[in-house]
Amino acid sequence: MSDIAYVNGKFLDINDAKVSVKDRGLLFGDGVYEVAGVIEGVLIDNLAHLKRLERSLHSIELELPLTINKLIEVQKEIIMLNSLKEGTLYLHVTRGESQNREFEFPEAPRASIVMFVQHKKIFHLTQDKLRAKVMTLPDLRWKRRDIKSIALLAQVLAKQTAHQNGCDEVWMYEDNFVTEGGSSNAFIIKDNKLISRKNNETILSGITRQAVLKLVQQESLLFDERPFTIEEAYHSSEAFYTSASVFVMPVISIDGKIIGDGNPGPLTLKLRNLYENFAKSFINQKNNN
Ligand code: PMP
Repeated sequence: MSDIAYVNGKFLDINDAKVSVKDRGLLFGDGVYEVAGVIEGVLIDNLAHLKRLERSLHSIELELPLTINKLIEVQKEIIMLNSLKEGTLYLHVTRGESQNREFEFPEAPRASIVMFVQHKKIFHLTQDKLRAKVMTLPDLRWKRRDIKSIALLAQVLAKQTAHQNGCDEVWMYEDNFVTEGGSSNAFIIKDNKLISRKNNETILSGITRQAVLKLVQQESLLFDERPFTIEEAYHSSEAFYTSASVFVMPVISIDGKIIGDGNPGPLTLKLRNLYENFAKSFINQKNNN
């Protein structure tokens, strides 16, 4: 049986789920999106994702076509209809249909919302999957990377190059400093200190990053919130990246240079473990309600 997608109020077989050729998301990349992790059918840190969605929507002057509570109902429904146990839930909101491909906003825009799920392992990963290779490439994106825009061409091209070079993720850089991963936030560890770039318009404020930083504080681990260079990353003792679909992913090489002893570092694995427990807390919350 094929998956069920949600398009503007309707739940449809994914093969029959369609949007207009005049959708401004398709024509201009005029929309924003979210991806949240799901384990045991439960969304992880969903309220934080929805808060970021509201921030992104506000930044592009677009209103959600339904209330947040209704949106949450739809999210739960689509997880149920797809019997999603583990994976991700994708949702995007675009500025709907354009009249004549005019760049300016339509007079009375009707936002369009699409949702679907992806079944994949994000939690129960075997050791061999926790060994990411990273390639660095220039960051060619626009200057408002804090907005989770659906316009992802720079990341598509960078991630494709990384993939062709046998790597799992790209770390993009600007003025020799790493900004972030193609679809993740970048961290290194040096002298037992965690280093990661500050949140501002140069990176996306990752929901997983935010949660990991809270765990770091709770554990009283040392943290230096600053940008790091590619050279520093090459010489780090550990490196990892975070996202809703990989949690905390250990990095074993950057541009072919081995990080640490070429295995996931102990502090990285500790943080992954702490994040896994944090993720599990959402399942426990649901079971206790
Ligand atoms: N940076 C970029 C550019 C991303 O695309 C993502 C994934 N959406 C992230 C960081 C990580 O964000 P999150 O932890 O919210 O998945």
